[in-house]
Amino acid sequence: MTVFLLLAACLWGIGALTGAPSRARWAMIGVLYAAVLLAVMIAPASNPFGGAFGEWALLGGGAIVVIGYRFGLSKLRARVPQNDPGTPETGPFREAELERYMRHIILRDIGGTGQKKLKEAKVLVIGAGGLGSPVLQYLAASGVGTIGVIDDDVVDASNLQRQVIHTDASLGMPKVFSAEMAMTAQNPFVEVRPYNRRLDEDSGAVVAEYDLVLDGSDNFATRYLVNRLCAAHQTPLIAAAITQWEGQISTYNSDATAPCYQCVFPQPPAANMVPTCSEAGVAAPLPGVLGTMMAMEAIKHITGAGQGLSGRLVIHDALYAETRVISVKKRADCPICGG
Ligand SMILES: [Zn+2]
Repeated sequence: MTVFLLLAACLWGIGALTGAPSRARWAMIGVLYAAVLLAVMIAPASNPFGGAFGEWALLGGGAIVVIGYRFGLSKLRARVPQNDPGTPETGPFREAELERYMRHIILRDIGGTGQKKLKEAKVLVIGAGGLGSPVLQYLAASGVGTIGVIDDDVVDASNLQRQVIHTDASLGMPKVFSAEMAMTAQNPFVEVRPYNRRLDEDSGAVVAEYDLVLDGSDNFATRYLVNRLCAAHQTPLIAAAITQWEGQISTYNSDATAPCYQCVFPQPPAANMVPTCSEAGVAAPLPGVLGTMMAMEAIKHITGAGQGLSGRLVIHDALYAETRVISVKKRADCPICGG
C-alpha cells in the first residue's frame, strides 16, 4: 500500500509541475491502480504492493462510490438555473439553500426552475390559526420567498390543541409575530411580512402586492371579503374551511373561466346553521390535513406541477376517512366575477 501511495504522490507531483488538470492527474492514478490490481491478481505473493486482491478491489469500489456521489451532486447543481453572470455560480441560490431545497430540486416536476419560481413567489396567508399554521410552516420550509400573514388575534391557550405553529411560550403574543418567529427559525432564507390587523375592505393594497392568496380564515364574512378582493385584483385564491370532523378546499379565480368562491357558495348559510370551531369543536389534526393540502396546492400552482383544484371542490370527512371530489363551475350571474 505504501509503494502505491508513494507512486500516486509522484504522479500527482509530476502532474502539478507540468500543469496537468486535476482530472488528468486522477486518470493517471486510476491507471496506476488498474496496474496494481492486475499485479496483485497475477502475482499475489511476489508483487511489491502487498495486500490481498479483495482488499484492493474494496478500496477501488469505495473510490468509485465517492466519485459517483460527487458526480451526481455536481449534475444536480447544474440543473439549478443560472442567474446573470454577475452572481455566483450557484445562480439565485446560496450554497446553504441548495442543500436545503435539494429534495425539491431532484423532483422532476419542480426541479431548479420550480424552486426559483418558489423563491420569487409572493404569497399572502389570511389567518394564522388552525389552517394557517401548517400553511405557513410548509410555505416557509418550501422556500416561498415572500410570505405575508394577516391576523389580528393573539395566541390563546385554547388554540394550542391544533394551531401547531404557536407554542406555550407565545401565549398572549399577536399570532402574526408568533408565526413569524417560528417561520424564520425554520427557514431564515424566506421573508415573512406580518400584518397585525384584521383584513377589511381597505386591505386591497395588501392583496395587490401578492401573486397568490391562501384563505384560512374562520368566518364567512372574511371568506366573501377575501374573494371580492382577489377577484378585483385577479389574484388566484386557494381557500379551505373546516368544522368538527369535516373540511373542504378548492382553488378559485385562477383564470377568467374559473369559478370564484361566490360562484360555488352564492349565499352564506343562515346564522347558526354552520357552527364555528369554538361553538362545535374541531379534531386537532383536521386543520393539519386541510392546511397541508392548501400548501400543496400553492406549491403546485406556483411551480406549474400537476393539476390544481380549479373547478373542483374536495370534501374530506375525517370521521369516516372519506374524500369526495365534486366539479364546480363559474356562474354567469355571479355578482363578483360574472358578466
Ligand atoms: Zn364568481
